[in-house]
Amino acid sequence: MRLTETFHSIQGEGTLIGIPMFFVRTNRCNLRCKWCDSTYTFEGGSEKEIPELVSEVREAKEDWICFTGGEPLLQRDAEEFVVKIVEAGKKVLIETSGSLPVNKFTSISGTVIDMDVKTPSSGEENSIHLPNLSLLRPSDYIKFVIQDDNDYQYAKNFLNSHKDEIKCEIVFQPAWGTDLKWLVESTLSDDLQVRVLTQMHKLIWGEISGV
Ligand code: SF4
Repeated sequence: MRLTETFHSIQGEGTLIGIPMFFVRTNRCNLRCKWCDSTYTFEGGSEKEIPELVSEVREAKEDWICFTGGEPLLQRDAEEFVVKIVEAGKKVLIETSGSLPVNKFTSISGTVIDMDVKTPSSGEENSIHLPNLSLLRPSDYIKFVIQDDNDYQYAKNFLNSHKDEIKCEIVFQPAWGTDLKWLVESTLSDDLQVRVLTQMHKLIWGEISGV
């Protein structure tokens, strides 16, 4: 596994917001979102063998492990790693861009998948691997990062077009610096069945890596 870092923090995004987690952040991403806040994962990092990493995770005090990136599903040993840490009694939140198949991971109990659908402001709006939509379970969630009204309309239309395939929760997250009140009032006005959640770790610590 090629890693950028491991660290203790709280989960800052999505429906598990506020839960203390041990983060395993992998290197490399196949996308290049314009507002990416993890560009430091695109290069470098260091290799760690699975037994060593599993041992580190096993000793973490947190029950939850956040497996993130970069794009963690690019890692050759991603499935083996997730299986082993679930067997070790941990619960795993997998954060993925949605561009790679999630089928190997939805069959592992003890996992929650936080899957993005990239909006136009990312520049990667056609990256979604559409078969993933019907694979996500009610305990998983799909996240749209919304920067402006164009993104908002895109997300609304996407949800309407795929409503028969989606059975998980939907999260709208304002891009950092986007008006939270505008986003909340828009979803209420349109009666969208979505949750609006912000990036709590950035509210607490600002835009720094390792939190
Ligand atoms: S998928 Fe995530 S890590 Fe990759 S470029 Fe987009 S925001 Fe950055």
